[in-house]
Amino acid sequence: MNAPPENHPVETIDFDARSLAIWLFDEPRNQTADETAGATRESYGKGEQKALDLIKSVATEHGLETEIDEAANLIMTLPGSEPDRPSIACGSHIDSVPQGGNYDGAAGVVAGLLCLARMRTQNIVPQRTIKLWALRGEESAWYGKSYIGSSALFGHLCADDLAAAHRNGRRSLADALKSCGAAVDRIERGDQLLDPASIAVYLELHIEQSPVMVARDLPTAIVTGIRGCIRHRTIRCLGETGHSGAAPRWLRRDALFTTAELYHTPTGRLASAPARRCNA
Ligand SMILES: [Zn+2]
Repeated sequence: MNAPPENHPVETIDFDARSLAIWLFDEPRNQTADETAGATRESYGKGEQKALDLIKSVATEHGLETEIDEAANLIMTLPGSEPDRPSIACGSHIDSVPQGGNYDGAAGVVAGLLCLARMRTQNIVPQRTIKLWALRGEESAWYGKSYIGSSALFGHLCADDLAAAHRNGRRSLADALKSCGAAVDRIERGDQLLDPASIAVYLELHIEQSPVMVARDLPTAIVTGIRGCIRHRTIRCLGETGHSGAAPRWLRRDALFTTAELYHTPTGRLASAPARRCNA
């Protein structure tokens, strides 16, 4: 940690981190409460926008730089003394599933914001710039695809993804992104909107969504890897007919057996003779 550079304005907003944390969780919950239960912050929808605006205003109030990237995500920045070095990235997603939990995603954004605000208050200037992302559209519940906000940044959304309809059939993902000001043309071309080399590490605080920590009585844990979530709308397993009395199992290409195995085995590691073709 270094002394602040001369062009770095000194802010002295002090705050009680606990009270601010409670407010940062309560206010979005109040504003995005679902009529039935939980919070609903639809990807690229009203609830998500409200939560994003609220986070942005608090970040600005606490002297952080804010910007909206080309995928409509919010970035909050604490500049470092060596801004040319790859930055430290942190954050999480701000959207939720319908009637979702208030802390899923939001916990990572709020934790990052409190850390950066505290560093700002104490005039701590890190060597590397720290960037906090409040990502939009990470939940697959709305358009059938996970990680939209981050995939868009790295050129990983294809035309089919962008044409995907909202769960209610109201509009396409492309329309939703456009309504939030995202650079849909660039996203559709697969342009890389964020250079991975500009980021040294990525840290994300997240609530646990499995029973493991409760079962092991652990208050916190560090996860070094997590299973990805890829959803295929259609999977076809094509087999070949064979004479039931003459063709042994190991020479058969049975679509039903392969389909059953696919449910239990990571794709590409089928033990038995695979069906002729199994694609998504
Ligand atoms: Zn989450």
